[in-house]
Amino acid sequence: MDSLINLSYLVAAVLFIYGIKMLGRQATARRGNLLSAIGMLIAVVATLLLAGMSYEWIVLGVVVGSAIGVYAARTVKMTAMPELVALLNGSGGLASLLVGWAEYHAEPVTGAFRATAIILAVLIGGIAFTGSVVAYAKLAERIAGRPILFTGQNIANALLLLVTVVLSVLFVVNPGDSYLLFVLVVLLALTLGVLAVIPIGGADMPIVISLLNSYSGIAAAAAGFIILNTVLIVAGALVGASGLILTAIMCKAMNRSLSNVLFAGFGASGGRQVASVQGQVQAISADDAYYILEAARSVVVVPGYGMAVAQAQHAVKELADLLSGNGAEVKYAIHPVAGRMPGHMNVLLAEASVPYEQLVEPGDVNPTMSAVDVAIVIGANDVVNPAAREKGSPLYGMPIINVDEAQTVFVLKRSMAAGFSGADNPLFFKPNTRMLFGDAKASLSKLVAAFKEAAS
Ligand code: NDP
Repeated sequence: MDSLINLSYLVAAVLFIYGIKMLGRQATARRGNLLSAIGMLIAVVATLLLAGMSYEWIVLGVVVGSAIGVYAARTVKMTAMPELVALLNGSGGLASLLVGWAEYHAEPVTGAFRATAIILAVLIGGIAFTGSVVAYAKLAERIAGRPILFTGQNIANALLLLVTVVLSVLFVVNPGDSYLLFVLVVLLALTLGVLAVIPIGGADMPIVISLLNSYSGIAAAAAGFIILNTVLIVAGALVGASGLILTAIMCKAMNRSLSNVLFAGFGASGGRQVASVQGQVQAISADDAYYILEAARSVVVVPGYGMAVAQAQHAVKELADLLSGNGAEVKYAIHPVAGRMPGHMNVLLAEASVPYEQLVEPGDVNPTMSAVDVAIVIGANDVVNPAAREKGSPLYGMPIINVDEAQTVFVLKRSMAAGFSGADNPLFFKPNTRMLFGDAKASLSKLVAAFKEAAS
């Protein structure tokens, strides 16, 4: 029986790895997801067949978990997905912490290996849990999104980390009767999670989210070592490693080092200090915008968080198709941190069946921007904010999509409000920018209607 279970775990691990690989391309992503899900099913069934398993608690867990899952899936709005993802990361961390805690009580902890696995699951799981709850609160705007700083914060955090590591080592050296140490590490880990995430905010949040995702995976792998479950170790390691890769990608997108993001408290002042935000805003009606678009030969669409809020992805695709039909070359420029979660724009545009070949990265589209007739900014703000080129801006250093270099820029948004970072946007005041005020979906529908009316 044991070898059958181990074989199932091996098959599950292979399916996970292939599944993740297939997620890398739009054409294979759905199959990749299915493959990974089958892998998980095999892993769960194999685990349930383990000898000596008692099922009452498992059934209870499945019922309660499914009820919460179904409720969340039905009620959470698409725009609240990033917050949900943050909470799910936190749940993963909490689960690992609880596994570590339960195993501490299950049998006397002897040996450095088991003690290390337990303390790592508790420590990293605890940080991932409270860190994710703070990230959730920031994304859901339950607390201020900007960095929360106090004097001596980095020193306090470093000291706290040092104390936690020392106590963890003491626990590993003598795990038998050090419950007090253990509980202290739990409390310190929970505190560290909060303190590590509050100084990070604004445009740096994507990096925190991917890092916490990675922590929850590493904590799960540690939990796998405690209960000696191969598939949990493999799955945890995959999440941990892919989270770290994503963190590196996000750091690159922000042009920042990880230590700078974690410790610099960047953008705490909110960004109103950038001096260049002045001048006249020029609004445009959908009808007038149509005439300019009608004549355009090359168009770059830049979606952002507002497209997700307006659920405008289908209307975007409809307009892009009409523009292509009218002889324009249309590309979608996707900034890696656009929206509120990694890949947010890609998911929405894929839902609207936008061909992947039409998506371009900022680095590829920027050099050709001056030859673009019209850049249409749809609910994006920070990712096109030229203030990122100015020292003192909370966005300083972040590579942006240089729409301000296009011949004409249409910005579709409802007001002059700032984006997630809180930084004012000088783009709105540039002579080649026209603001098309209103809900993005409504504005796009008007443009679509104008094209259709002209064709009929
Ligand atoms: P921003 O948050 O900078 O701006 C979004 C804009 O959308 C707002 O200015 C808002 O203006 C507009 N908007 C909102 N609703 C609508 C609507 N219904 N119709 C039209 N416009 C609307 O978005 P970006 O995508 O440019 O930048 C993302 C920001 O979020 C970055 O700072 C990034 O670092 C951060 N972030 C990203 C994460 C990620 O993983 N991608 C995670 C966490 C944070 P108005 O109210 O006037 O309409």
